[in-house]
Amino acid sequence: MMDSKLGGRAVVVGGSIAGLLAARVLAEFFTRVDVFDRDDIPELPVPRRAVPQGRHIHFLQEAGRKCFERLFPGFTDDVLAAGGVEFDPGRGLVWHIGGGYTRKTTTDYRMLWATRPMFEWCLRRRVGAIGNVTITPGRAVQDLITAPSADRVVAVEVDDPETGRTTRIDADFVVDARGRGSAVASWLAKAGYGQVPSDEVKVNIGYATRIYRRTAIDWERASLGVQPTAPDTRAAMIVPVEGDRWMVTLTGWSGDLPPSDPDGFLAYAKSLAAPDIFEAIQDLEPISDIVTHRFPAGLRRRYERMSRFPDRLVVMGDAITSYNPAYGQGMSSAAMQAHDLRDTLLHSGLDRTAQRFFKRAARSIDIPWSVAVGGDFRFPATEGRKPFGTDLANRYLARLQRGMHHDEKLVHAFGRVINLERSSASLLAPSIVLRTLRAAG
Ligand SMILES: Cc1cc2nc3c(=O)[nH]c(=O)nc-3n(C[C@H](O)[C@H](O)[C@H](O)COP(=O)(O)OP(=O)(O)OC[C@H]3O[C@@H](n4cnc5c(N)ncnc54)[C@H](O)[C@@H]3O)c2cc1C
Repeated sequence: MMDSKLGGRAVVVGGSIAGLLAARVLAEFFTRVDVFDRDDIPELPVPRRAVPQGRHIHFLQEAGRKCFERLFPGFTDDVLAAGGVEFDPGRGLVWHIGGGYTRKTTTDYRMLWATRPMFEWCLRRRVGAIGNVTITPGRAVQDLITAPSADRVVAVEVDDPETGRTTRIDADFVVDARGRGSAVASWLAKAGYGQVPSDEVKVNIGYATRIYRRTAIDWERASLGVQPTAPDTRAAMIVPVEGDRWMVTLTGWSGDLPPSDPDGFLAYAKSLAAPDIFEAIQDLEPISDIVTHRFPAGLRRRYERMSRFPDRLVVMGDAITSYNPAYGQGMSSAAMQAHDLRDTLLHSGLDRTAQRFFKRAARSIDIPWSVAVGGDFRFPATEGRKPFGTDLANRYLARLQRGMHHDEKLVHAFGRVINLERSSASLLAPSIVLRTLRAAG
């Protein structure tokens, strides 16, 4: 923690994963940090209204887990103490990808499984324990207020439930973490800063999830995953979560949406490229209804490309980039952005913070965004700007995935990329190219 602060009060709009991570960082630099969320925040780790995606599988990638650990040492232990499950994916995950099963191998990273509400609950407990942070639920931020010169944000207007009006709260710094629906882009346009350039990739994905009772874990089959090989559009995972439960999520690409009725759910599972998930759930006891979620498109807002932007305001989490969830990147990217914010404040203080942060964050967002967008264009129905060389890269990746059926080194290399520990470029190292070219077919 810093001895002298950069400012008096910082405000975070949105108290979900990105907002809570931001609050932890701001607590180092400001005397007081106020987090406002419009939702009612439940006492227990259960799904909440404003975060409907919280009912579906959420994977915290290794790079994200390490970012959480650096901000909250012992975070993994918190999740495990609350019933989360950890294992080496090389041994515990039975993974059908590229038309076959990956070879089993011991890796140097872990998979940490819990529900999305549990990750958020563990995070909120840690942030709530920071002396200069106050989290206030049930209060929506309605507006951002700039200085008369319009060069920076100086306050927010927050709902006041007592008066039924809004209250102005002055702030030396504001983080917008209102999720994908954040109103910052439309506020900027209305306030005369111009349109935010954005990239959109339409994937038309659907999720269907059901919870089952768990009695025991076979550590060689702690989790099962089936990935589609285009033109097949159906994926699924079964993972252990807290409360001795299995979470089963079916995912359909390009409008091939999984159904919400029990017979349809089972039939969809039976139609996957590998039988494991259908065979597993056939014998399990369901303990929830089936819930569904639709995700139309990945959306990246390019704040770093705006010629005018008010200082002392930054945007984080899904509000800046909402990734196709099938790659499980959003929470990890938010954690990387929290480190970007910390580095910006540490090195440059409050000097052109917004500009410097967006530049830095753009670099850390590039890694997950390029993995997701590249993968999205495996499917012919995907719409959007396809980066140059994507088809060639996907043919190479398809071959590499076939190589993973027998080559441990390829499993390690690919695992590091999807866990955001290395960029996709690492898969072009000569030793990996050679092994990939040797792969059958
Ligand atoms: C189906 C699905 C599956 C996913 N799976 C994964 C996964 O496996 N791994 C992963 O890392 N990510 C995954 N994600 C993404 C992940 O859910 C998000 O990246 C993560 O929740 C971080 O979001 P956030 O904090 O930016 O926003 P959100 O979680 O959307 O929260 C926004 C918050 O802002 C509040 N808010 C909104 N408006 C206001 C206002 N005016 N005033 C005050 N508060 C406001 C809301 O109440 C809410 O609490 C998935 C997403 C989906 C849709």
